[in-house]
Formats: sequence, C-alpha cells, structure tokens
Amino acid sequence: MKITMRPELLRVLIHSKLQDGRLPHDSITKVWSSPSAGETCDGCDLILAKEDLLMAGTTLTRGRMSLHFHVVCFRVWDDQRRAPQS
Ligand SMILES: [Zn+2]
Repeated sequence: MKITMRPELLRVLIHSKLQDGRLPHDSITKVWSSPSAGETCDGCDLILAKEDLLMAGTTLTRGRMSLHFHVVCFRVWDDQRRAPQS
C-alpha cells in the first residue's frame, strides 16, 4: 500500500523541521535519484515504498550525510528552504 501525506500537512511538517534544524536550509551540493530500497523519508518520516523514486541529496552543512526524500517531499523542502525566513 502506498502511503502519502496530505500536501498541507507535509508543508507544515517540513516547515517545522526547517525551524528546529532537523532539515538544513543551506544549498544542496548534490542531488540524485534512484529506486527506493526502503529508506525513511527525511521529510515526512514515512518509509519509501518500493515503487517510489528516492530523491537523495547532500548539503554543505550535512557534508556526506545524505538526506532521503520522496519526490514530493523533496520539492516541498527545496521550496521552503529557499523561502524567506519570517
Ligand atoms: Zn516523504
């Protein structure tokens, strides 16, 4: 069964993770996609299903520790990390 989070909840969750530092604001240094091997999404905390495409990325502060996302979660994070801080 494919589990997805409602987009408005996803935005709130990722926003709070950016606020408290669980997700970085800094620039993505490298991004790639690959078939999922059951990784946990750093955006929504759900496990990627086999049929999901994994989006992985590294940032300056995370160094070699890559972040894993669903495609949709990656887009939300990428969008929000660039948004001006309020
Ligand atoms: Zn996700």
